[in-house]
Amino acid sequence: MNQVEIKAVKRIGVIGGGQLAWMMARAAQKLELELIVQTPHASDPAVAIANSAILAPIDDAQATSELATRCDTITFENEFVDLPALQPLVDRGVHFQPSLSALAPLLDKYSQRCYLRDLGLPVPHFVSLEEFQTENSRLKNQNSLVIKARRHGYDGQGTFIVKNKESLGEVLAKLENTPLLIEEFIPFAKELAVIAARSVTGEIVIYPVVETQQEDQVCHRVIVPAEIGQSVQAKIEAIAGAILQDLKAVGVFGIELFLTASGKVLVNEIAPRNHNSGHFTIDACETSQFEMHLRAISGLRLGSPRLKSAGAVMVNLLGYEHSSSDYLTKRQQLEKLPKTHVLWYNKTESRPGRKLGHVTTLLETNQLGTAKAIAQNIESIWYGE
Ligand code: ADP
Repeated sequence: MNQVEIKAVKRIGVIGGGQLAWMMARAAQKLELELIVQTPHASDPAVAIANSAILAPIDDAQATSELATRCDTITFENEFVDLPALQPLVDRGVHFQPSLSALAPLLDKYSQRCYLRDLGLPVPHFVSLEEFQTENSRLKNQNSLVIKARRHGYDGQGTFIVKNKESLGEVLAKLENTPLLIEEFIPFAKELAVIAARSVTGEIVIYPVVETQQEDQVCHRVIVPAEIGQSVQAKIEAIAGAILQDLKAVGVFGIELFLTASGKVLVNEIAPRNHNSGHFTIDACETSQFEMHLRAISGLRLGSPRLKSAGAVMVNLLGYEHSSSDYLTKRQQLEKLPKTHVLWYNKTESRPGRKLGHVTTLLETNQLGTAKAIAQNIESIWYGE
């Protein structure tokens, strides 16, 4: 047996217990790995299927220290951790994958932008709030700007698109004590994303580039593969490879990008973990992004990221009301659609915009029109006509 096939790691600790950890736990069962989650609530999705759980906030380093005694390596479902508080654990020999040094430049959106720029990768023009206020920045003359909380933003929470000076003033007043990143608004032709993985031996695999469609800054659907030319695909693969290589990242990372009408690619964001844009891989690829992540961090050979069908479309089932319904009838209706798989995260409460589950339909063609029509049908069943 090849050296890298030997499983040195059997017990995985996961910081976070939401739907990403839940999907990771399903993959862990397949690989016969033990999974222990650190998450605040007993009702969090992954608690029900993990081997055990430590009920504590994800930024509770004391709880992570306890987690470390129960597992061989620790990984992240959620990166909103207290990095300086975790550092002493590394000094005591606790193993994090990806490493804390790979996470360090990424957790603050401004530092992440600086990191990408310094790596020579294309990003939107950006400044910190302090630079915006003092510098005679060219952003000052632009009406359309994007204001982002530097930390703890997700699903568009903490991201504000402003189109004039008045709304800029309002947003800045509202976020008075929040550290901010301010950047140019990119009138993108498409938003793209890619999932890439790197193993402990430095092997890198990259999944097909997908198109993500956001509404109010929240991902609604993902079209696989993205309708892009070979040169854009190659550019994005080179970007993903450069990032994972430079960070010496171990595990799966999600990278979000903008594609402009002139074919320019800009990096928007790196997520140092499994990502919503990669949920299609569970049903549509030879290896799911969750299995890929576990393989990477447990020292196994990476799997194949190849598509098993010509294409796929993934639609998020987002909450549209406050309710404790499990929406069984709608889920059954969706499950009857051809080549369609519904994953329901078993959350106990629905709220507007909350990710409750997702649907993936496999396609016999990679025609954008077909994917869009299928997504529309799924959404009309879920949200109503
Ligand atoms: P989050 O971390 O909350 O997902 P993002 O930075 O990914 O925040 O922004 C969410 C969405 O907001 C993006 O998917 C995109 O639709 C929009 N957006 C973010 N930055 C810009 C930008 N500079 N120009 C245009 N749209 C943007």
